[in-house]
Amino acid sequence: MTYVERVLKDLKERNPGEPEFHQAATEILTTLAPVVEKHPEYEKAGLLERFVEPERVVMFRVPWVDDNGKVHVNKGYRVQFNSAIGPYKGGLRFHPSVNLSIIKFLGLEQILKNSLTGLPIGGGKGGSDFDPKGKSDREIMAFCQSFMTELCKHIGPDTDVPAGDIGVGGREIGFLFGQYKRIRNEHVGVLTGRGLSYGGSLVRTEATGYGLIYITEEALKARGDSFEGKTVVISGSGNVAIYACQKAQSLGAKVVAMYDSNGYIYDPNGIRLDVVKDIKEVKRGRIKEYAERVPGAVYTEGCKGIWTIPCDIALPCATQNEIDEQAAKTLVANGCKYVGEGANMPSTLEAIDVFQKSGVVFLPAKAANAGGVATSALEMAQSSGRMFWTFEEVDAKLKNIMVNIYHNIDDAAKEYGYEGNYVMGANIAGFKKVADAMMAQGIV
Ligand code: NDP
Repeated sequence: MTYVERVLKDLKERNPGEPEFHQAATEILTTLAPVVEKHPEYEKAGLLERFVEPERVVMFRVPWVDDNGKVHVNKGYRVQFNSAIGPYKGGLRFHPSVNLSIIKFLGLEQILKNSLTGLPIGGGKGGSDFDPKGKSDREIMAFCQSFMTELCKHIGPDTDVPAGDIGVGGREIGFLFGQYKRIRNEHVGVLTGRGLSYGGSLVRTEATGYGLIYITEEALKARGDSFEGKTVVISGSGNVAIYACQKAQSLGAKVVAMYDSNGYIYDPNGIRLDVVKDIKEVKRGRIKEYAERVPGAVYTEGCKGIWTIPCDIALPCATQNEIDEQAAKTLVANGCKYVGEGANMPSTLEAIDVFQKSGVVFLPAKAANAGGVATSALEMAQSSGRMFWTFEEVDAKLKNIMVNIYHNIDDAAKEYGYEGNYVMGANIAGFKKVADAMMAQGIV
């Protein structure tokens, strides 16, 4: 049994009932085999065993009271996975599906993603099984305050800097930040994605979606192509999906479909993003309303069917495992040539296999959606320097980072003899820096 196989086997035995964590670890570790072979000193130093074990896991009770006076108790998590190259950094997810396995898979991915940005940030992730859907603003505030009352003991601007993720947007970050400041009496950059009036950065809201389009654009450019005239399908209608749609449209693409967790809309004339934004950002409604408001658009209940819509470029931007083997085969059969992952792990391992064997240009999440965390790191830099950069400055830095990521993963894939395999490229390029830092810091 090879070193990688042994570490994976141990990981599965020692972390039973964590399928998402096993899936992410399998994807990452198997692609690292050629690097590990080149560096026998890693095995001696137990590097992989340490890499897959979080430095710290904090789990806590989050009690809160709803508008009817009823007490609820949710689970809170913060996984501080790896601080070799910088303070822990990664989002908070509020969604009923959240459990330790999901937070650990996200945290493990985050280590390599953050490394790929080229900025000094370690990997972490957190969240709760709280469901923000249908809650009043006061209930959201009560939950966020209770969550931060415990979390504030474990984070800090040089220790761990959380941000948003599914279910955690500007409103939640505001409530979380307010409670941190109240308890710790410190106005510091302890969360990113803050409002512009209290330390946030321009472009942070747009960053993940824009970044996804910038890296996909670079992949197109490398093949003498562009977004102009392309048909694009985007899943989700949240933060990442909306700004991916905006940037893709501005580059001349036609986005024809989007969804939320109930169903998808198909608009052959091209999605009207102003309507989507009004429904999702202003009214916090359901995507279904789009078809009631825009003539020619069709709503279909259920999400899976979105991948049967023919497109040149598919951008999954909602959640993990949205594209399974069958969906991948359908996309390929219908002529899809590029897949850029805006969400984290939206394609199953089998789906990735289909894409790679069919010659689809597949940009994995840890590279493709790194624009969000990269801009978070730019927000941290502005906070500690007491500076405020213009939209154009931040956007230019973001674009530069995404273009660099593309070339880094492309070069790493070539260096190891896997040209065009960006799963390999991203894992290897991200891992090398973390491995160097861990080796330099001794057995910790
Ligand atoms: P949002 O909460 O803003 O939006 C999530 C979207 O996905 C919503 O449309 C939601 O539908 C849909 N969705 C969520 N869960 C499911 C599900 N189980 N089935 C179908 N649809 C679902 O989140 P974000 O846009 O911030 O995040 C989307 C993805 O991008 C996540 O994987 C996240 O980890 C990743 N990501 C986000 C970053 C960021 O900066 N925000 C950075 C890097 C990655 P509904 O409205 O019905 O809930």
